Amino acid sequence: IQSKLPQVGTTIFTVMSALATEHKAVNLGQGFPDFPMSAELSGLVTEAMQNGYNQYAPMPGYMPLREAIAEKVEYLYNTTINPDTQVTITPGGTYAIYTALTTVLQPGDEVIVFEPGYDSYIPNIIVNGAIPVRIDLQFPEYKINWAEVRLRITPKTRMIMLNSPHNPTGAVLREEDIQQLRSLVQDTNIIIVSDEVYEHIVFDNVKHQSILRYPDLAARSFVCFSFGKVYHCTGWKLGYAIAPDAFTREFRKVHQFNCFSCHTPSQVALATFLRNRDSYLTLSSFLQQKRDYFLQLMKNTRFSMLDSKGSYFICAQYDRISDESDKDFAIRITKEFGVAAIPVSAFYQDGTDNKVVRFCFGKKEETLALAAERLARV
Ligand code: PMP
Ligand code: GLN
Repeated sequence: IQSKLPQVGTTIFTVMSALATEHKAVNLGQGFPDFPMSAELSGLVTEAMQNGYNQYAPMPGYMPLREAIAEKVEYLYNTTINPDTQVTITPGGTYAIYTALTTVLQPGDEVIVFEPGYDSYIPNIIVNGAIPVRIDLQFPEYKINWAEVRLRITPKTRMIMLNSPHNPTGAVLREEDIQQLRSLVQDTNIIIVSDEVYEHIVFDNVKHQSILRYPDLAARSFVCFSFGKVYHCTGWKLGYAIAPDAFTREFRKVHQFNCFSCHTPSQVALATFLRNRDSYLTLSSFLQQKRDYFLQLMKNTRFSMLDSKGSYFICAQYDRISDESDKDFAIRITKEFGVAAIPVSAFYQDGTDNKVVRFCFGKKEETLALAAERLARV
């Protein structure tokens, strides 16, 4: 067969996790927690199964869960969404993003996408026959250069993809960014896909700038979320997309013939669990403590830590240690020192290498301590 994704190999997450296992390294590479999820939530899943919730859920998702999401959105972002016509439960955030792109993009459409960026975006654009228009975030703060965005917009620009808090850098969008975005898209038919899977992980009292806070932007957006990220259960692969009625109708046409509906017992459990606001409101401080703990430990190393304002990732420069490429460096420290990280060049289509690696600090303190002890020897 002729490849639709000739440039694509195995994802860096698979590569680095396999290497970490092979060398018994501490895995601060792939983003997943190594501590247990809530026993209450897993108990609710068991209960749902025992209560017979084992058949297909409705195509758009279990209604009480969609209602709980709408209530949460109203509470957090001060906006009313219709759970019946604007929320669709999906098998993960990645799938929600893919489905949004497939719903909208026609061959030849241009999509503005920032780099470094989560590695599924560009293949999702290409597989739909559209054209990625890549714009570098400004190193080392990883801010958006809005003047450049303005220059790169053409009559073919169909979409802008955003991600805040940002993977891999931990950068967050500020209100100034939103104002720039607003003025940029006004009077255009540009659609926004906003990846907000880390919405509950923001530090230092920064406010998460959800697109849902801004009705003019929400009216042209698909906003994508992930329960795996919020509730420490990345293996569940459950998320959702929020979009206006007309967008959601088209989104569901694609969704219904792809997976139709998602795992029922976890939706039933989440419908109850989500009503407890502490279940998500405590996440920022929980992970901020881990970030600060890791930063403290990393002072004993020769890495220069960059700023992380959200997500469970932090980037580090290693130019005081080595001039190897970031891939060679990440592989070598996994093999020789027993700590796996992700080379940030993997998040650039052209392999831009600023000699930075990404660490995931969403781990137990003992894991972070062991990793830092090993990194001090690098
Ligand atoms: N977007 C970003 C930026 C992510 O980091 C992740 C998690 N890896 C996802 C989307 C996807 O989440 P899920 O596992 O629910 O597909
Ligand atoms: N989102 C996670 C990360 O960035 C892992 C995603 C994946 O393994 N596909 O590390």
